Amino acid sequence: MKKHDFNPESLMMSYGYKPELSEGAIKCPIFQTSTFVFKTAEEGKAFFELAYGLREKSPKEELGLIYSRINNPNLEILENRLCLWDKADDCAVFESGMSAISTVLLEFLKPGDLLVYSNPLYGGTDHFIHHFLNKIGVHTIGVMPNQSIDQVIQMIKDSGKAEQLAMIYLETPANPTNDIVDIEKYSQLAKRFSTEDRKTLLAVDNTYMGPLWQHPLQCGADLILYSATKYIGGHSDLIAGAVLGKADLMLRVKTLRTFLGNMVSPHTAWLMLRSLETLKVRMDQQTMNAQVIAEYLEKHPKVENVYYLGLLKEDEEAYDIYKKQCSAPGAMVSFDIKGGEKEAFTFLNSLGLMKLAVSLGGTESLAQHPKTMTHAGVDDEQRQQMKITDQLVRLSIGVESSKDLIWDIEQALNKVGVCSKLEMEIS
Ligand SMILES: *Cc1c(COP(=O)(O)O)cnc(C)c1O
Repeated sequence: MKKHDFNPESLMMSYGYKPELSEGAIKCPIFQTSTFVFKTAEEGKAFFELAYGLREKSPKEELGLIYSRINNPNLEILENRLCLWDKADDCAVFESGMSAISTVLLEFLKPGDLLVYSNPLYGGTDHFIHHFLNKIGVHTIGVMPNQSIDQVIQMIKDSGKAEQLAMIYLETPANPTNDIVDIEKYSQLAKRFSTEDRKTLLAVDNTYMGPLWQHPLQCGADLILYSATKYIGGHSDLIAGAVLGKADLMLRVKTLRTFLGNMVSPHTAWLMLRSLETLKVRMDQQTMNAQVIAEYLEKHPKVENVYYLGLLKEDEEAYDIYKKQCSAPGAMVSFDIKGGEKEAFTFLNSLGLMKLAVSLGGTESLAQHPKTMTHAGVDDEQRQQMKITDQLVRLSIGVESSKDLIWDIEQALNKVGVCSKLEMEIS
């Protein structure tokens, strides 16, 4: 066959799997086993030499199967396939998004270091930074969405810890407001603060864009993090996480994973292999639906503001960043309902097809109230600054018919305000 560069979606059914090693099975079976039999003691010795970095790999040599905390066919095939979307050297899959995130932060930060991060952050990440990293003496600076790069540079200098800036951690687009930051500009900032013996790393939580719509490594990031529970898993039936990046950094991530023991199980890895086969068709449908829904909401009289990348106007600053680093507007739509908590709750309680639940990126559409749910733990003043108010509702759009979703949203919005009008007439 002639050499041809296949697109990732064409390779998700077969890449990295050799049927002849599994009785010809078309699909990779679940390798539900804890350990692997060595052919000889010499082979076992050679595998361990590589696993412990006691010698360099010879050309073409691959790490043999040893023990399922270190490697497993389901895990390895999954990691190889995930690398294709982001064109990464290597990937490590974890038992949750939070274990991927906390493992990266633990590996690359030590007491005395400085971490700069963007706001708002996923609630769990925010908690880990404020309640764990601060406790072990990592200094942190949170950047608000409206702060410029120059302001960030000033904040780093003013902290007196510029020399210790070990990592910049971004979440873009941010959950739940869809605020975006310029990854390339932050990669320049990381370079600027790197010293000869310490490279400032740039890590990006790319969960909101899945591995399809934004590729942070190509924008200068060193590491990508995912909650694979979301688009990658995509069916709201598993919890997992992933980290991708250059080989030298990934070796460190995988080594710490081996000793924390927080790798994904063979069964969950197998479910994710199944998910990856439909990743692109799912996500294409989800973003198409989301655009239609965002446009519908924007015109609705009971809706005040809609936060969706596909509605950005050319004269907005975020538009240029969006065009530069994203290939689609995603499938997360947030909006301010007119009124407050009462109106938001009436809307949420009236939905039928869409379910009232946190999480995102799955085949079914979900709705939730960030202020009292996913972001309930965030400091109130900060929440206000980030526009996470009583009015804000967050939607994760699935693969249903957009007509049915709009029907559902419309009938739920129709219920909003009706009661209070009646109450007013009675009083
Ligand atoms: C859900 C989520 C996480 C955490 O992932 P889990 O799989 O729930 O541990 C991290 N970041 C973002 C942006 C998320 O949405």
